[in-house]
Amino acid sequence: MAKSRQAAGNPKSRAPKSNGSSGTLKAVIADLVAGNRILYNEGVVDGFGHLSARDPRDPNRFLLSRARAPGLVVAADILEFGLDGEPIKAKAPPIYSERFIHSEIYRARPDVHSVVHTHSPTVVPFSVTHEPLRPIRAGFFYPEVPVFDTRDAAGWTDLLISTPALGRALAEKLGNNSVVLLRGHGNAVVAATVRDAVYRAIYTEANAKLLLQAKMLGGPIKYLAPEEAEIMNAARTRVRPGHGSDRIWELLVSEAMGASGKRKR
Ligand code: MN
Repeated sequence: MAKSRQAAGNPKSRAPKSNGSSGTLKAVIADLVAGNRILYNEGVVDGFGHLSARDPRDPNRFLLSRARAPGLVVAADILEFGLDGEPIKAKAPPIYSERFIHSEIYRARPDVHSVVHTHSPTVVPFSVTHEPLRPIRAGFFYPEVPVFDTRDAAGWTDLLISTPALGRALAEKLGNNSVVLLRGHGNAVVAATVRDAVYRAIYTEANAKLLLQAKMLGGPIKYLAPEEAEIMNAARTRVRPGHGSDRIWELLVSEAMGASGKRKR
């Protein structure tokens, strides 16, 4: 902890420049490694869950860790996959059974360059009730947060998205939204960059917590209006160094990389 505080306060430790779809391979892998650690540190993933990025060199490929707990992922764990969800190299180590969440979303959504799959605990109640996950702070919840149910697509299963067909059905349910819930299981969150996908996965969990708390207080809830979400989204696309995700990424990297094992929640 002391180490991470020192890093956070060090003026020389600047946040690396944001990596969009044109980011170099090395920079994207660095964000993937940091993103895995951050998602673990923030309590959004546990031993399970994963984060991927579309390959900046080839839109028909994506980058994802070998089957490993996100809190332990290092650059050497990152493997390259085709949009069929299979590793490019023939002799690959064990891989995630739910990689088809990633492959089929990349296939369906050319605008998406990063995908997160989590078992984010507070979103799960919204996947098993008729209570929709609506935005209090998370403007990216618009147009909506749909719920995908494996039962509708494939009957009785173990709920895992472990085939291309289930991945396709999930991608179809996601549609043009940024978050889709998986019934009794978790969610998939998408964005144009790794950093935004990580940010959205964290704020999806945070928004779900706030909504549960608001429901406990009772009475009608004033949700974030679509008009407000639009203004927020427009502000986020303006490049303002030191603001928005730029600021939070620097802090999150410092905490997650400096304080490995010091999980917040
Ligand atoms: Mn899962």
